[in-house]
Amino acid sequence: MICKLCDKFYLDEDSITGIFTFSKVCEACKKKFIPNELYEVIPINHGLIEYHYLYENMNLNIKQKYYLNQYLDILYLKIIDQFNKYDLYIFLDDDVYYETSYFGDLVNDYKHVFIFSLMRKELMYKTIF
Ligand SMILES: [Zn+2]
Repeated sequence: MICKLCDKFYLDEDSITGIFTFSKVCEACKKKFIPNELYEVIPINHGLIEYHYLYENMNLNIKQKYYLNQYLDILYLKIIDQFNKYDLYIFLDDDVYYETSYFGDLVNDYKHVFIFSLMRKELMYKTIF
């Protein structure tokens, strides 16, 4: 089979549990791309931003990002569990991240802001607040 993340051929182990399902990624990629729920807390004018992400800075291509986006369900479930805790939820993709002219104005009037993304993006040293 061909790994969905690294595009290399690999052989999957045959077992009774794998009769009806096939692994889509190789063992090396399974270990390399284990999602970890990481977060940072950033103070703003009236409160705090909690910035959650699953991977540290990684150099991923668009195909890898698309595949790994399935793990965002970890953060979606967290949002559902704590729906009343935060005032504003923002998915920080590249379009939002590089459009910084309105980002600071958007979050500064809220007390508890939940920002999430697949990979970590630098927020602390970016002059958006
Ligand atoms: Zn792989």
